[in-house]
Amino acid sequence: MDKKLKNADLINPNWEQRGYIQIYTGNGKGKTTASLGLAMRALGRNWKVLVVMFTKGGDNYGELTSFRNLSHSIQENLTIEQAGLDRIVYAHNMCQDDEKAIKRGWEIAKQAIKNNEYQLIILDEINIAIDLKILDIDEVVEVLKNKPQDMEIVLTGRNAHPKAIKIAHLVSKIEPIKHYWNMGIDARKGIEF
Ligand code: ATP
Ligand code: MG
Repeated sequence: MDKKLKNADLINPNWEQRGYIQIYTGNGKGKTTASLGLAMRALGRNWKVLVVMFTKGGDNYGELTSFRNLSHSIQENLTIEQAGLDRIVYAHNMCQDDEKAIKRGWEIAKQAIKNNEYQLIILDEINIAIDLKILDIDEVVEVLKNKPQDMEIVLTGRNAHPKAIKIAHLVSKIEPIKHYWNMGIDARKGIEF
C-alpha cells in the first residue's frame, strides 16, 4: 500500500473525513454487487443515495425489485436511474439509442453532483460508457474533481480509464482466478441479475 497517497493527483490535499472517489474495476465478478452493497450500507445510515445504472435498462434485475420493496423511509432516500437499453452493450452492438440513454444518465448524474443532492452516488458501469467513448473522460474527470467535498462517488465497470484511476482515492481491481463464465455458464437469475 502506498503510504504517499496524499499526492498532487488527488482532488485536494486535506481529504481526510471527506467524501472519496472509489472505483471497482477488473474482469472478475463483484463490481456491481460491491457497489450495491455499499448503497445498502449507506441507506442504513439514512444517507441519500443515487444509483445510475449505465447500459442497463428493463426490469430484469433482482436488485431493482429489492430496492422497490425497501421500507418507505429508506426508499425516500434512494433514487435509481436506468440509463440503457434492455440488453448488454458491447462495441459491436452499440446503437444510437444506447448512446442516448447513457448520455441522459450522465446528465442526471452531473446535475445531482452539482446540486449536492446525495451523499453517495453510484455510477454503475460508467467505466464501460467511457471505454466505449460514449462519455468523454475529460468531462467526467472535471465533474468528479468539482464534486461537493462530502459526497462519495463510486464508479464501476471493466477497463477503468487511467485518468479516472489517477484522481480516485480508492481503486479495487477484481481479478478472476476462476469464473464459470469461462466454462460456458451464462449469467444466472438471482446471482448475476
Ligand atoms: P456482479 O454484478 O455480479 O457484481 P460485475 O459487475 O463484476 O458482476 P460485469 O463486468 O458487470 O460484472 O459483468 C456482468 C456480466 O457480464 C457477468 O455477470 C457475465 O454474465 C457477463 N460476462 C460477459 N463476458 C464475461 C467474461 N469474459 N467474464 C465474466 N463475465 C462475463
Ligand atoms: Mg457490473
